[in-house]
Amino acid sequence: MNTSAGSRVPSPNILIVDDTPVNVAVLAEHLVSHGFSVMVAQDGEEGIERAQFAPPDLILLDVMMPGIGGFETCRKLKSLSATKDIPVIFMTALSDIGDKIAAYKLGGVDYVTKPFHAEEVLARINTHLSLQAMQRQLLEQNQQLQQEIAVRQKAETVLAQRSQELARSNAELEQLAYVASHDLQEPLRMVASYVQLLEQRYGGKLDAEAHEFIGFSVDGVKRMQALIDDLLTYSRVGTKAKPLQATDCDAVLKTVLQSLCIAIEESGAQIQCAAMPVVQGDPAQLTQLFQNLLANAIKFRGAQAPQIEIRVEPENDFWRFEVKDNGIGIAPEYFARIFVMFQRLHNRSRYPGTGIGLAICKKIVERHGGRVWVESEPGQGSTFKFTLPQAPQTTGEAS
Ligand code: ADP
Repeated sequence: MNTSAGSRVPSPNILIVDDTPVNVAVLAEHLVSHGFSVMVAQDGEEGIERAQFAPPDLILLDVMMPGIGGFETCRKLKSLSATKDIPVIFMTALSDIGDKIAAYKLGGVDYVTKPFHAEEVLARINTHLSLQAMQRQLLEQNQQLQQEIAVRQKAETVLAQRSQELARSNAELEQLAYVASHDLQEPLRMVASYVQLLEQRYGGKLDAEAHEFIGFSVDGVKRMQALIDDLLTYSRVGTKAKPLQATDCDAVLKTVLQSLCIAIEESGAQIQCAAMPVVQGDPAQLTQLFQNLLANAIKFRGAQAPQIEIRVEPENDFWRFEVKDNGIGIAPEYFARIFVMFQRLHNRSRYPGTGIGLAICKKIVERHGGRVWVESEPGQGSTFKFTLPQAPQTTGEAS
């Protein structure tokens, strides 16, 4: 430890309270020659007054003094807010251990025995000034930390409130989408039935143009039904979610391939499928996920028959699934956009669809704790990739 006074505190101020002028003179001279400022008081009361008026950095307090004496002086100093934190070193001729203990109990930090050695006093003063400086620094740092903690806690509370509000408004929106889509289905079915009835009953009396108009109406109704169905599916990912359970992806894929068998046959698609793992998932949602990706791989084919590969690899704590096709591909600027609802890159007449399929995929994958993305080049096919956690997941359960 560096005990040079000057390097620690600029000109520390020491108050010597002692009724023996010889002691005071020697000590004061020594301290001044080592860069200290020195104040002197002849007795306890004067010492308290001086300490209150201009609080020193440290007090050297004689124990045996006429008047209130060193111990009583110390007790008073420790009871006053202006002086209570000033370190007090007792100067004593006492050799009784009980007195020394009493000195510590009263709040003294140290004592020196008379006749004292000026160098020893200096060393002790420096030690206690250093300790006090460190204590102050710790106190400041502590206060700073407390402030930082308070600021962070406040920010965390605000964040938690916001995310709660967000979750609530999300749930409300999902519920709204679900109810709206559900309620829209009924009037739409009515429009479709009556347009078809019109055609059946009055078909013979209508001209070609009227038939065309009816065709447009039926087509519009069908498109709207498809949209409502997809919207319902989208909102159900959150609102009607089942708890995650051990799900065999081999079985999931088998179901998907069966339900797509007509599209596979018509397009002449070749599908290669690796052995699939068992994951913690919602079987209906994983079926939906694979079905959307495979249906797209078939739908967005190029001139050749679709060649589709379904692969899976372990990656850290996840499985990384890939659905690779040899279709028309996607330009990089659309990679993020296609996962947003209603985002389509093609004319409906060429590639029919609602633009909700990939948004559903994203929502399903994220509910399972994974992520989904695409790698592609126009004309070079696309590979849709998604991850699912390998370890059992408890998050994302139906609420
Ligand atoms: P939809 O298939 O109903 O159009 P999706 O959300 O499934 O809606 O897909 C959004 C868009 O992403 C599609 O319109 C298409 O432009 C593009 N896309 C999706 N899958 C593929 C794919 N395998 N190859 C090329 N483009 C694709």
